[in-house]
Amino acid sequence: MGQQSPALSVVVPMYNEESVLPLLAERLRGVLDGLDETYEVVAVDDGSTDATAAALRGLRERWPQLRVIRLRRNSGHQAALNAGLMRSRGEYVVSIDADLQDPPETIADMLALARSQNLDIVYGVRADRSSDTAFKRLTAGAYYRMMRRLVGKSMPAQAGDFRLLSRTAVEALRDLPERSPVLRLVVPWLGFPSGEVRFERAERAAGRTKYPLSKMLALAAESVTSFSAAPLRVATWLGLLGVGVCALLVIAVVVAYATGHTVSGWPSILVAVLFLGAVQLLCLGLLGEYVGRIYTALLARPAYFIASDSDPGDETDAGAAPEQRAGFDPVVLVDSHR
Ligand code: UDP
Ligand code: MG
Repeated sequence: MGQQSPALSVVVPMYNEESVLPLLAERLRGVLDGLDETYEVVAVDDGSTDATAAALRGLRERWPQLRVIRLRRNSGHQAALNAGLMRSRGEYVVSIDADLQDPPETIADMLALARSQNLDIVYGVRADRSSDTAFKRLTAGAYYRMMRRLVGKSMPAQAGDFRLLSRTAVEALRDLPERSPVLRLVVPWLGFPSGEVRFERAERAAGRTKYPLSKMLALAAESVTSFSAAPLRVATWLGLLGVGVCALLVIAVVVAYATGHTVSGWPSILVAVLFLGAVQLLCLGLLGEYVGRIYTALLARPAYFIASDSDPGDETDAGAAPEQRAGFDPVVLVDSHR
């Protein structure tokens, strides 16, 4: 494939997906070979500990368009996606999950729509989630409602990370100073002309979900704090509320005193003290979230490390003569987004 940029890149982040990989390869290859376009498949192995790496090596022997990028350690879905996007070369780039929940056949529709209407972004929108568990539907529903409040209506509901981006949009992402943006929020925020393709979300073809509740919560917290300072204002509102409640209490106390109904007062004091303590802790915690974000932004650590790229092209220079950096791991910082 060399340095010529293909018409299409398909970025597939995968973490311990050995059981689904053969199914994915067969179906994805069928679709892509049928498109009659030049393409590359960028498989991002997110530090898998199972046989995923070996399986990818095996697949590469028979599938020249398959390119394998391995991250040095498990860095999470968003980081793996970012790694793949930043290193992709296609005129259009589609990101898709490895587990065949996003049907590869939809890629053809996305590409056709983007070309015919000259769009930079085409979202895959889940028309039907009946194959997901009730719990997943509930949590996902709450997540998308909250995010649409933050980002605005330009963010389509029920659009995950199955989407097509033009080269221009990928370059715009690359120019952002953020290390590993939450793509499903940042992409609509970029404001490119966009369209939607609806698809039915299938069940996971094999293996188990790599998104336990803890990771879902982490993504939600990251999404909110990366996009809005609104929660900080909660402190202000709670403070005002506290002042209001205290004013009422003062009136009540004065009335009670005047009418001779003085109460012994233990419970009310205790309630007031506990309430204020809780409010303060809550606000401290919220503040801490943002201080933490400032801290990580200052550290400016890369969100991922590339351990290897089967088709590095001329980007290997990005590591800038690692041997000259004393004390650094020889495969450092091959990609830090710029
Ligand atoms: N994934 C990843 N790194 C992780 C977790 C997940 O690259 O740390 C990949 C995973 O292999 C899959 C995609 O992200 O291709 C979506 O994960 P999954 O299907 O488990 O999430 P769900 O569909 O259950 O939300
Ligand atoms: Mg999945």
